[in-house]
Amino acid sequence: MDFDLFVIGGGSGGVRCARIAASYGAKVGIAEERFWGGTCVNIGCVPKKFMVMAAEYGLNAEDGPSFGWELKKGAHDWRKLIAAKDKEIARLNGIYLRLLEQAGARIFEARATLIGPHEIDVGGERVTAERIVIATGGHPVRLDIPGAEHAIVSDDAFYLEDRPKSVAIVGGGYIAVEFAGIFAGLGSETHLVYRQPLPLRGFDEDIRVGLADALATNGILLHPDTVPKSITSVGARKAVTLSDLSVLNVDLVFFATGRVANTTGLGLEAAGVETGREGQILVDDALTTSVPHIYAIGDVTDRLNLTPVATAEGHALADSLFGKNPRKVSLENVPTAVFSIPPIATVGLTEVQAAARGKVKIFVTKFTPMRHAITGRARRTTMKLIVDALSDKILGAHMLGEDAPEIMQGIAVAIVTGATKADFDRTIGIHPTAAEEFVTLRTQTRVTGGERPAE
Ligand code: FAD
Ligand code: NDP
Repeated sequence: MDFDLFVIGGGSGGVRCARIAASYGAKVGIAEERFWGGTCVNIGCVPKKFMVMAAEYGLNAEDGPSFGWELKKGAHDWRKLIAAKDKEIARLNGIYLRLLEQAGARIFEARATLIGPHEIDVGGERVTAERIVIATGGHPVRLDIPGAEHAIVSDDAFYLEDRPKSVAIVGGGYIAVEFAGIFAGLGSETHLVYRQPLPLRGFDEDIRVGLADALATNGILLHPDTVPKSITSVGARKAVTLSDLSVLNVDLVFFATGRVANTTGLGLEAAGVETGREGQILVDDALTTSVPHIYAIGDVTDRLNLTPVATAEGHALADSLFGKNPRKVSLENVPTAVFSIPPIATVGLTEVQAAARGKVKIFVTKFTPMRHAITGRARRTTMKLIVDALSDKILGAHMLGEDAPEIMQGIAVAIVTGATKADFDRTIGIHPTAAEEFVTLRTQTRVTGGERPAE
């Protein structure tokens, strides 16, 4: 065999797996067809967060005068933002590549396809490997409606030449909500068209209600319970006909309607790797596919599509295969954040999930963040704890409000280690912060979920 391990895909999961395996002395090859660092670094988490920050600066400029600053919010220069973002991403691409080179992996800047259980075609070269890791990620999908070709997807949103003056974003998930905040914050007329009554299906109801209020307060035009039926191009503009028969005339239509695994044309049949209905690779809890020496990690398995999950899986797999440290990654209590404005962060069960299991105590607080007592901005924070009524264990924590992702990382450590409400109560707060509310929530809002223990 040419390699002990061959990794297909140089994104979050693949790079981590290749790098760690090579550091243990394994002979590693890795192929990337587009950009080192994959989705997260190039067209995902990182550029998205820069754009959210850009939008927040505009809002801060509006708020500054309340604190005595003589600030005037001027125009936003989209091209300058995109250039600054591109420069930083080019630097990160280089870091990813160097990390792999330093670890001693052989780099292939080409598309790889399986041509047999141990054979891979990489840019026309045939290589063999004892073990193979598939880490090819996913890509955004468009709705199948007339005129869908007139819409962009998130991959395109990072390279727009100019900011649209008006945009219709379709979808109510992570990407839709985050880009609604970006475009509205930068000054675009922003419509959010989603098929549920509230955005972010699957998140806690109190947070979803608070988010819908916050989006509307930020000037985003909400179209709940609505889907687009067709799009036509009218000169440089687009006309989107909605299911309620209204028509939105906008500069840009943006589908943020989910992603599917990159498995088409990968040669999975040649190797005997089985996929699910949406084309995702099926794995067991050791990340093994239907072929015992072929593994899959990250978004291509379509379970929890988050960068820290992909990197944790890549690392655990390398440790297990080459580091004499077999271990698995738990997908329970994985914290996650939505970088809406204001952001959301959550870990553990929602109220509905917990109540379906058994009796839970619910603690909710809603308040105006301290800074907005002075700015007068209509912004509310929601914080919520879900506690097993019998064991007192915290089963879920949810927050909508400024700094929620930064706060939730620490709360997640407590929940992963099995903290109880009594543990939170005996922890002294840090004052004056929003975070201290998590340890001073004394008044129970309600009890729900029957009599069985929920844990
Ligand atoms: P990817 O990072 O997608 O990497 C797969 C790589 O494989 C790609 O570089 C691709 O070019 C390459 N490839 C595919 N096929 C082949 C082939 N046949 N041969 C060679 N190379 C191939 N997650 C978070 O945790 N936080 C966030 O804030 C966040 N924001 C996001 C924002 C957006 C707009 C999007 C789209 C995603 C976001 N995510 C976020 C999700 C995160 O980006 C993914 O979960 C993560 O990138 C998955 O890593 P991966 O290694 O599985 O796949
Ligand atoms: P999501 O799955 O989060 O959301 C997809 C949205 O599209 C949902 O609102 C869904 O509605 C809607 N939708 C799907 N099909 C249709 C349809 N046929 N008609 C109308 N609406 C439809 O996907 P995203 O594209 O937003 O993001 C993909 C994934 O990437 C996320 O799930 C997440 O794992 C990851 N990500 C993580 C981020 C982070 O960590 N901050 C940021 C961005 C992405 P419904 O709810 O009714 O199904």
